[in-house]
Amino acid sequence: MAIATVNPATGETLKTYDALDAEAIERRLAAAETAFRSHRTTSFAERARLMHRAAGLLDEDQRDIARLMTTEMGKPVKQARAEAAKCAKAMRWYADHAEELLADEEPADSDVKDSGASRVIVRYRPLGPVLAVMPWNFPLWQVVRFAAPALMAGNVGLLKHASNVPGTALYLEDLFRRAGFPEGCFQTLLIGSGAVGQVLRDARIRAATLTGSEPAGRAVASVAGDEIKKTVLELGGSDPFVVMPSADLDRAARVAVTARVQNNGQSCIAAKRFIVHTDVFDAFAERFTAGMTALTVGDPMDEETEIGPLSSEEGRAGLEELVDEAVESGATVLCGGERPDRPGWYYPPTVLADVTPEMRIHREEAFGPVATLYRAAGPDEAVEIANDSPFGLSSNVWTRDETEVDRFVRDLETGGVYVNGMTASHPAFPFGGVKRSGYGRELSGHGIREFCNITTVWHG
Ligand code: NDP
Repeated sequence: MAIATVNPATGETLKTYDALDAEAIERRLAAAETAFRSHRTTSFAERARLMHRAAGLLDEDQRDIARLMTTEMGKPVKQARAEAAKCAKAMRWYADHAEELLADEEPADSDVKDSGASRVIVRYRPLGPVLAVMPWNFPLWQVVRFAAPALMAGNVGLLKHASNVPGTALYLEDLFRRAGFPEGCFQTLLIGSGAVGQVLRDARIRAATLTGSEPAGRAVASVAGDEIKKTVLELGGSDPFVVMPSADLDRAARVAVTARVQNNGQSCIAAKRFIVHTDVFDAFAERFTAGMTALTVGDPMDEETEIGPLSSEEGRAGLEELVDEAVESGATVLCGGERPDRPGWYYPPTVLADVTPEMRIHREEAFGPVATLYRAAGPDEAVEIANDSPFGLSSNVWTRDETEVDRFVRDLETGGVYVNGMTASHPAFPFGGVKRSGYGRELSGHGIREFCNITTVWHG
């Protein structure tokens, strides 16, 4: 894939970039190693000062960086501004909390004595340069979610961003540099995915994190496994959204629309499979379909737009194939389902009912504004359908019955359970999945400790 800015609303190529050659990659790896030697010894107060400055600069740049993201990947510009604001918030959160999250720990006195020590502490030391392979869907957030904790922990970062968001990737490098992080602390590598393996095998890279598709995750984790390097993987999701009879149906249907179509439907934590109790199925389906149909589809630069184009022609073709295969196999189209006749990679909000386990869309991630509806006779069947997926990122359950809540929290095989609301990440809460959605956690104390050398210091 060429490294280029291509406007998904028009299909026009606006700028192309040359991939770094071997010498340029070597310079960056050397710079990362040098930067790590000094960055690892800086105080939390100094790192926090720089991180706060980065957050301030990002706030100042919000309008411009939002327009760049929209130009590169097509999200509605209002949502792009919200993404930039969320990144600044996460930077501030880690700036303010990293020291306490990574504070030394002291095991119980009895255990210390039992080991024959006079004192034992557990210290979170940084690991070194970490390679981050990131996707285009939240081109700022996916990176900041890694970079803010990594830099605060004393690590340094090398970013291999998706090939369709090079402008945003270079902006991030520049942002951290302007904030005052020394040269080499955070660098962008403009390279294709074919060059990732070689960078990852370099001894100076100590670990890797990847957000993206399953094949990309498998490729990076295989190399990392071969090199015995730690990885965190945040892969796809096909999150269930379960609605039980006691739910506030109006609210559930309204939130369901947002949960499905945020970011033009291209979010790993978007609700994708709507599993509704038979007693309220028709009422929910009607409200949800009406909400999906009422969405404003259009130019993502327009403030009123709720759905813009998908990020790439291949992305739209893949989504179209999933829908067409389901319809040919008997799914019912409640709305959408046909690509519009206009330039750009648009796909309409689509709702499919009568989806069966044999259909590809039941097992694969629909990365666009396409929802599938399922009927469930009760909580047992709802859990069964929800867990009948290779993915396990997050889940949403709507009920006012506390017994049902307990049941769903106990049985849903996902890294998050959001009750009477939609899944949304927050810097203070762990984020990540199980099954094919990946492993490890981002955000919160769990996220910042993933790339630490957890060291036992024993005093005789
Ligand atoms: P990819 O997973 O292919 O891209 C994500 C990142 O991984 C990019 O930086 C990409 O680089 C890189 N990459 C891809 N293949 C490899 C590889 N073999 N080795 C190393 N790095 C690699 O996402 P796509 O854009 O192709 O989207 C495909 C599907 O992935 C979507 O339809 C969706 O289902 C899922 N996805 C999930 C996301 C999530 O948030 N969990 C985000 C994006 C996609 P390059 O761009 O140069 O190929």
